[in-house]
Amino acid sequence: MSDDLVRIAVPNKGRLSERALELLSRTGLHVPRHARSLMADVNGRWRLLFVRTGDIPEYVAAGTADVGVTGLDLVAEHDVDVETLLPLGFGTCRLVVAVPRNRGYRSIEDLSGHQVATEFEHLASRFFDQQGVDVEIVPLSGAAEIAPHIGVADAIVDLVETGSTLRQNGLVELATILDSEAVVVANRDSLRTREAQLEELRSALKGVLDAQARRYLMLNVPRDHLEDVKAILPGVTAPTVMPLLGREDWVALHAVIHEEQINRVIPKLKQAGAEGLLVLPIERMVP
Ligand code: AMP
Repeated sequence: MSDDLVRIAVPNKGRLSERALELLSRTGLHVPRHARSLMADVNGRWRLLFVRTGDIPEYVAAGTADVGVTGLDLVAEHDVDVETLLPLGFGTCRLVVAVPRNRGYRSIEDLSGHQVATEFEHLASRFFDQQGVDVEIVPLSGAAEIAPHIGVADAIVDLVETGSTLRQNGLVELATILDSEAVVVANRDSLRTREAQLEELRSALKGVLDAQARRYLMLNVPRDHLEDVKAILPGVTAPTVMPLLGREDWVALHAVIHEEQINRVIPKLKQAGAEGLLVLPIERMVP
């Protein structure tokens, strides 16, 4: 067992697990499926610890892991002192207060003196305290939606993504407590003692995330239409323009473009005389 390995805590199952592993794999940290049991060493420098998403904030805070991928909601619920290195843009959800439709609850104040069932005891208590509304928190460890229907509580505090599960269960939202997504968090001591390796990891992950919504666009265009083509490419700073061998009056243009703009700009580029368009994925972007 080497002390030099940076320990990365990764969800072993659940909603964030696959995406976290996929992201790590795109930075070059590949873990074969059969090796995803308890821990796996990668490239001789990283040790992946496969643990429960909900335990990761504590493991990172305690230094059992140097960094971890978990939900921001879980970091906030555990109220641990860790540093958020990078938001990851997946696992997005909201922690909300919800009540059964048609029971007359219109605002948070209407819940005064009532029972609120939740897995998020800390965040829920803090929220109602801040609102000055006195409620009784009923701790649960899952399936909160059912609680108001079986008399366990009058309201719930739970995570929602689209809100459709709440609606299906006859519940409506009264307030949002927290917006959450998957994050990389780091142990504060590790940030000092393993600064270079943690920055390497953060920067690699950021490069992959920044690249995934962008494409590399290549096209040929008559030299005297170059300005028209540049005007069509929105938000592209300084595209690369290169000569084409044997075609003095044409140039090749390369630019990085947002994926969502591709379909819109291609017909315009064709109209402006562009030919031979290629759209390529980008693996990583580092400014
Ligand atoms: P797990 O319990 O391992 O499946 O992971 C739950 C975590 O996934 C939560 O703490 C959130 O960070 C995230 N998440 C994203 N969307 C949802 C959702 N609709 N319901 C519950 N958790 C969600």
